Amino acid sequence: MTNPELAIPVREPEQTGSDDTILPFAVKALDLRGRIVRLGAAVDTILTGHDYPTPVAKLLGEAIVLTVMLGSALKFEGRFILQTKSDGPVRMLVVDFASPGTVRACASFDAERVAAAIAANAVEPGKLLGHGHLAMTIDQGPDMSRYQGLVPLEGGDLEQAAHEYFSRSEQIPTRVRLAVAEEFRAGAGGPRRHWRAGGILAQFLPNSIERSRQADLDPGDAPPGTTVHVLPEDDAWVEGRSLIATVNDIELLDPALSSERLAYRLFHERGVRVFRAAPVQAQCSCSRKSVENMLRSFSQSDRDDMVENGRITVTCEFCNSTYVFQPDEITAQDTTAS
Ligand SMILES: [Zn+2]
Repeated sequence: MTNPELAIPVREPEQTGSDDTILPFAVKALDLRGRIVRLGAAVDTILTGHDYPTPVAKLLGEAIVLTVMLGSALKFEGRFILQTKSDGPVRMLVVDFASPGTVRACASFDAERVAAAIAANAVEPGKLLGHGHLAMTIDQGPDMSRYQGLVPLEGGDLEQAAHEYFSRSEQIPTRVRLAVAEEFRAGAGGPRRHWRAGGILAQFLPNSIERSRQADLDPGDAPPGTTVHVLPEDDAWVEGRSLIATVNDIELLDPALSSERLAYRLFHERGVRVFRAAPVQAQCSCSRKSVENMLRSFSQSDRDDMVENGRITVTCEFCNSTYVFQPDEITAQDTTAS
C-alpha cells in the first residue's frame, strides 16, 4: 500500500504572512491538531467600525479570534455564536461566525465603569468581564436543533474560559493563545491605527481515549480525606501544550511571520503538516428585509412605541447600518400578507 503522505512534497514554509486566514495543522508524532488564525483587515473593519474604548475593543478582538478558531472547525453550513454575559464593566460580547468564513461582532458595556477601569489601570480581560458565563451556540438553521455549551466566567480571561470549556464539556485537552494589538501605519490623512489579531489553538486527539484523560480533574464533592486520583498527563500532550505556552503575542501578530513559519518554528522537530488555509472576512448578515421581518414580528403597539418623528429607525448593532421605515410600510404589508 502506498502511503499518501509520501506524495506530499516537502518544501520550505511560506515566508510571507497572509492576513485574514485560518491555517489548519497537524503534528502526528504528538497526536496534535490545531489552527492558526491571523486577522488584519477583518478585525480592523469590525473594531474600527465600532470605535469602542481601547480595552473594550481589544477584549472583543480576542473574542473574535477565539470564535473564528472554533467556528472554522464546523463541518457543515451553519453559525457559531460566542456570547458572554457578565457583571463587569463589559456586560456582553457577541461574536457571530458564519461558515465558511464571515464574522461580525459587537460589545455592550457600561461607559462610566469602563472609564473608571481605565483610570484605575484595571483593564485586564478578567476584570472587564467580571463574573457570569460564556455561551457557545452552534446553529445549523431553522429546522435543526441548536447546540449550546456554557462555561462560567469567574474573573478569568477568554483563554481560561476556553480551556475550562474543552476540559469539562468536551473532555479534549486544549490550549489556546489569543493576541490583539494596534499598529500605527502611515496613511493619506496622517498615521492611523490599525487593529491586528492572531491566535493558535491546539488539541490533543490521540486514537486511544485513555491517553487524553486529564490530570487536573476536580475532585468535586468528594469528602475530605478521600485520596485524589491523580492521572499522569500523557507525555505527548505535556510536550504539545508546553510548546503552545511558548508562543508570545508578537509571533501571533507580526505580519512578517507567516502562520506556516510559526507552525514550523514550534513543531519542526516533530514534523508538522499544514493544510490549505481558509479565508475569513468581516461581513454582517443584516438586510432591509431581515429588519422588516423582525419589525413585523412585534405587536402593533410595540411598533407604535418605536415611531420617532413619524419614522421607525433601526440601527444594526453589529455593523451600524441604519434602516428607516415609514410606520405604514410595515402595517400595510402586514395586512396584505394575512
Ligand atoms: Zn448589520
